[in-house]
Amino acid sequence: MHSNSPLQTLHHPLFTHHQIKVFIKRDDLIHPILSGNKWRKLMPNIQDAIQLKKSGILSFGGAYSNHIHALAFACKEHQLKSIGIIRGESQYHDNFTLAWAQHWGMQCQFVDRTTYQQRDQHDFLTKLAQAYPDYLLVPEGGSNHKALIGVGEIIKELNQQVEFDTLITPVGSGGTLAGLISTSQNQYELLGIAVLKQAEYLKSAIHSLLSEQAKRYNNWQLITDLHRGGYGKFSPQDCQQIIDFSQHCHIDFEPIYSGKMLLGFLDLLSLGYFKAKQRIVLLHTGGLQGLGGMVERNMLDGSQWNIPKSAPYF
Ligand SMILES: *Cc1c(COP(=O)(O)O)cnc(C)c1O
Repeated sequence: MHSNSPLQTLHHPLFTHHQIKVFIKRDDLIHPILSGNKWRKLMPNIQDAIQLKKSGILSFGGAYSNHIHALAFACKEHQLKSIGIIRGESQYHDNFTLAWAQHWGMQCQFVDRTTYQQRDQHDFLTKLAQAYPDYLLVPEGGSNHKALIGVGEIIKELNQQVEFDTLITPVGSGGTLAGLISTSQNQYELLGIAVLKQAEYLKSAIHSLLSEQAKRYNNWQLITDLHRGGYGKFSPQDCQQIIDFSQHCHIDFEPIYSGKMLLGFLDLLSLGYFKAKQRIVLLHTGGLQGLGGMVERNMLDGSQWNIPKSAPYF
């Protein structure tokens, strides 16, 4: 079977000290623009839209959303139209993420927070479906049942790439973790690091995405206390720790998802969570486009982070 992304071994004195083996599944390398886990989740939906003869896909996201960015590009590549229902004011229309999304043909519609909160409600979705009958509606983050199939490929690829005990992923909406659970057949230990606070509700969101059979699997855990203050929150020390690790391993991370998972993993390691000889895979979900918006908002120093350049491709 063909693997969509490589698996690499990570070397670090801490790993030697704790006698663990650490690998990283490089989904950030799947595509130069399309963020890794968003690519996994979108591909089955793109195929669905094409099969249903839809003219495009409509979805939801914040003004710096990796999903919106990926959706715009993926639709353009497959000759589909795209509409993004964006939380917030139209002042964001030319930010790093949305400028690219619109460049790739996405039509952005800005809605206030109250309207945005209805994004999963039946009545709201019915109205949208009536207004846009030839669009496939995909939820925020791309996390629907179809997405799970795409994410499940990660487990199939890993089965051929490495023997391992534990797989660690960052968790936002829960679709990625749900996809890993579905395909893992109750093997391996799956650890999800929630990147937002008060993330307990995600357990039931994940549960509701699972099949009856997968609902019985108990090989997974959502860790809800390593969010470092909430979504998009991190300290200068957190950033420095990510940068140091990046420089040591020559792999880029960003502090919202992949970097937060890395910090969570290092925290668990120092707490003695892992046993000697344990083989751990970190899932690098991508998301590096998000660095552009963080530098734009002065949340990060642009000279310290490697912002991917979308420009050379157009
Ligand atoms: C969206 C995203 C996640 C979270 O995935 P969910 O399926 O929403 O839990 C993790 N990493 C990156 C880079 C993302 O863009």
